[in-house]
Amino acid sequence: MRSGKRAPTCEWQVCGVCNYDCSYCIQSKIYRVGHPSDDEVARFLDFFASFDTPWEIKMTGGEPFAFKGFLNAILPGLVQRTSHTLSILTNLSAPLPFLERFATLTRGRLHVVSASLHLEHTDVATFAEKAKRLREWMSPETRLVINSVLVPERLEAFEAAKEMLAKDGLTIFPQIMKHEGSTFPYEATDVIRIERLIGKSPTPRTANTAPSYRGRLCWAGTDYFVLMQNGDAWSCRTAKRHKEGFLGNVLRGEFARGSGPLACGYDICPCTVPANRGMIEGIA
Ligand code: SF4
Ligand code: SF4
Repeated sequence: MRSGKRAPTCEWQVCGVCNYDCSYCIQSKIYRVGHPSDDEVARFLDFFASFDTPWEIKMTGGEPFAFKGFLNAILPGLVQRTSHTLSILTNLSAPLPFLERFATLTRGRLHVVSASLHLEHTDVATFAEKAKRLREWMSPETRLVINSVLVPERLEAFEAAKEMLAKDGLTIFPQIMKHEGSTFPYEATDVIRIERLIGKSPTPRTANTAPSYRGRLCWAGTDYFVLMQNGDAWSCRTAKRHKEGFLGNVLRGEFARGSGPLACGYDICPCTVPANRGMIEGIA
């Protein structure tokens, strides 16, 4: 399954439920609910155990830690039954004992922890303290990436957070805000301010600018896919939004990946995972 620099990756939305309610969340509130049943978790684990080569399984939500099955069943199951590399996107709100258990369970298997700083729900000092503790508990090889959305009315708070986190050796990965399936139309003054934060030529490794890769060959659907909590698999997030690129439902045993790259037909690639895992032609 692995070829060249491509790192086959599944982004698995382990649950919809989230303990936050961010004003800029790209998931509408009605979908930010629910989680798989015990039986469904067991069938997801069967699915991941059936892969013939190791992939990276990046777990997202909602908020993964808001679903107790994440720590109690999903992580132990993936560690014991598969050889996949594990990554997570979390808002880092879980209590420290949960984070310590997470680090212990996944030790040696954890690739990237993407921790989102949501200033509507926490403060930088609390967040930084947790990030530092988690970093101590994790293997040195695990990357800790702090990300935060560039909310127009909170750019000053973002700048202050960037400075505070830097004092703890933590770098912040800025994310352009999305709005109605596109990037947010910032005011001209904010555009200048944002350019100072992300640099003139940001890459997918330094910021998420949600660019267009229309026309480029992309391995989404073959070496990358998005798996939802109901078992539906899609070639990528934008394809799902357009109700295209459906790969079947893994809980019904109907999953089939594509057989090669296709030209991207979309004007926005909202997440940097496909780019940073080598899925997109010409993008490292
Ligand atoms: S923490 Fe993430 S999933 Fe939860 S409301 Fe905020 S942006 Fe949405
Ligand atoms: S480049 Fe991005 S939006 Fe286009 S098909 Fe690939 S993952 Fe989807």
